[in-house]
Amino acid sequence: MSRVKLLDREFELSIPEEKLLKAVDQIAEKMNRDLEGKNPLMICVLNGSFMFASDLMKRIDVPCEISFVKLSSYEGTGTTGKIKQLIGLNEDIKGRTVVLLEDIVDTGLTIANTVKQVSEMGPAEVKVATLLFKPEACKKEVTLDYVGLEIPNDFIVGYGLDYDGYGRNLKNIYTVVE
Ligand code: 5GP
Repeated sequence: MSRVKLLDREFELSIPEEKLLKAVDQIAEKMNRDLEGKNPLMICVLNGSFMFASDLMKRIDVPCEISFVKLSSYEGTGTTGKIKQLIGLNEDIKGRTVVLLEDIVDTGLTIANTVKQVSEMGPAEVKVATLLFKPEACKKEVTLDYVGLEIPNDFIVGYGLDYDGYGRNLKNIYTVVE
């Protein structure tokens, strides 16, 4: 399928499954070296990261756990403006190596906010893995320890990412046709 239609928009194939899985392989290889003996807790930031987290976990061979969190759609107002609260993290992460699994870093605001909230819970270290990164869109200074692929600043769907709820099931990534 080189084109798909979701709701009112057309999308064309931009990153085939094989290329995505190669990127996942490379992240896993690096994690298997870096995280040896650290007993990390992987934290999958839902919804978009579910497919990445699933393929990644199958390739991780160091002992580890995984937990799933969401950012509330409700936006509380903090001192730095609107902040989405992290919900669903029930583990005690004090003193642990935590690895955040993100689908995509665009402006960087979401991951910067997530790292901040997780850091306040007293882990030994927080690492960030993102399958996709849009360098041209990123406005925040965030350390990305593991990046699968750098991509242009276009809207994409598939492999967990949605357009208004649709397209998460696509195994390839597609870019919107303007
Ligand atoms: P950021 O805070 O870095 O701007 O955005 C992060 C979130 O926005 C991602 O977790 C994802 O949910 C959403 N997002 C950013 N870029 C895209 C995109 O190209 N397609 C889709 N479907 N979601 C995106």
